[in-house]
Amino acid sequence: MLDEGYIKFQPVWTPAEPLNWNILNELDHWRTVLYQHQLIGAYDNGIGFGNISQRWNAGHQFIISGSATGNIAKLNSQHYSLVERVEVDQNTLYCSGPILASSESMSHAVIYQECPWVNAVIHVHHLEYWKTLLHQIPTTPEQATYGTPDMAYAIIDLLQNDDLIKKKLFVMAGHEEGIFAFGESLETAASSLLNLPTY
Ligand SMILES: [Zn+2]
Repeated sequence: MLDEGYIKFQPVWTPAEPLNWNILNELDHWRTVLYQHQLIGAYDNGIGFGNISQRWNAGHQFIISGSATGNIAKLNSQHYSLVERVEVDQNTLYCSGPILASSESMSHAVIYQECPWVNAVIHVHHLEYWKTLLHQIPTTPEQATYGTPDMAYAIIDLLQNDDLIKKKLFVMAGHEEGIFAFGESLETAASSLLNLPTY
């Protein structure tokens, strides 16, 4: 079975009204651009991949695309969730909104926690970039699979690495095609993915 698209954390989800579109507008703009570049999308079997988030208010809360939305061409406010709190040690994630948060939310959460200057995190899939960048830039170990506390701890480890803070880009050896980018803004995080050379 393809290791993608299902939730591995214990979700504590409070269903709630969607956030106002004005709040989601910029996040959704970049999500659409990444979808158009097929960095977010779906495999032939219909399983979606890729997710995008933006820090929300003070603290470590963030807004993220919902679970199983990678295959949808155009999202609306029903497709975004607010992650309120994450307990990595307990593998528990608290979110609210009209949809459950993305299965990769725990990885986003630790980047916001570790780097107060980061306001946007993006996870995409791309086989050629993944192959080319693997172990050439900061890389999470093969044993760390997506959406797990193991992955969250591996990301925290990588964030101690100056090279990652400079590149703001890493690949996941244990999650084929998986690449993460982050930055001060959605635009800078998206640009580091969109400006990768074509091989
Ligand atoms: Zn993925």
